[in-house]
Amino acid sequence: MIKNPLNDNDFGKRDKRGHWSPFKKLTVNPVYLYPFHPFKFIFNLIMNKFKSIWDYIFYITVIVSWLFLTPSFDTMKNFEISWISFILFRNLIFIILLCGFFHLRLYTFKMQGNAFKYNPKPLDKNNSNFFLNNQLIDNIFYTLFWGVPIWSTYEIITLWAFANNTITYVSWELHPIYCCVLFLFVADIQSLHFYLVHRLLHWKPLYKYVHKIHHRNVNTGAWSGLSFHPLEHLLFFSGVFIFWLVPCHPLIPMWFLFWSAFAPHGGHSGYDIVLFKNGKYIRGGDYNHHLHHKYFECNYSGAGTSILDKIFGTFHDGSNEATIAFRKKAKSKKYL
Ligand SMILES: [Zn+2]
Ligand SMILES: [Zn+2]
Repeated sequence: MIKNPLNDNDFGKRDKRGHWSPFKKLTVNPVYLYPFHPFKFIFNLIMNKFKSIWDYIFYITVIVSWLFLTPSFDTMKNFEISWISFILFRNLIFIILLCGFFHLRLYTFKMQGNAFKYNPKPLDKNNSNFFLNNQLIDNIFYTLFWGVPIWSTYEIITLWAFANNTITYVSWELHPIYCCVLFLFVADIQSLHFYLVHRLLHWKPLYKYVHKIHHRNVNTGAWSGLSFHPLEHLLFFSGVFIFWLVPCHPLIPMWFLFWSAFAPHGGHSGYDIVLFKNGKYIRGGDYNHHLHHKYFECNYSGAGTSILDKIFGTFHDGSNEATIAFRKKAKSKKYL
């Protein structure tokens, strides 16, 4: 049967509450890790980095930023308001453009209605859980007021440390293979770091006072991706410290921070794909993480490293059996 890409019924089903889920069960990633097949595993791991248009957009953004939108080492030797504010402003623009694309298209202009939307409800406009009772304003506040400045602070300190030789600089020209391999695996390093931090954030005291801010978004939107308590931002971006210890080129930690800052927005957009009128589409949400927001005690890892959830018994593959089990668990912990 030929599937019509404009019709979400061809790709998934809606339950009686109108919640959409894909027909295909989630796979455990990275594939070929078990049973282990070395060539296929490496091939898959590399090809995974060139799958979506977003990968290319993010690569171009960080490379252009390093080449043309980052001050020279001479300038960055001392902390000065001019170059610090330039980096902060540059990062604010990137996030506004990225979230703006998803939000305007999917929520303001509703260009695909509810097609491929996991949760049929709109974002909350009268919910006292959110700042000014408005989910969108709340999410924008936590993202722009805390998220971007904390990301930028990590970036500014890292670049200052490179400029002062506090971090060992590796030249891309002299060590291209080493730099390329490191650059390529930054997303996997980030994914592992995210898993560890995320497990920590579900420890009761941290959940209650910190991570709950993010989890108020059961029905997520593009601005929910970095809508965290500032302590969560500090932990979330802290993986950049790895690159203070591992000798590298400054583009590598910048990529770690950019990837961390960019990837969550599409993943939280609430829509599985962003659909165009001609039937073409680009990647949108992350059903793996959507299930985490829905059932709390599952899928702590990003979709790329869901093997970690499989090992520790917290993997939700989207099936009805898994839903029944995790719903019980969430109720017993009073998440629901
Ligand atoms: Zn969580
Ligand atoms: Zn989330």
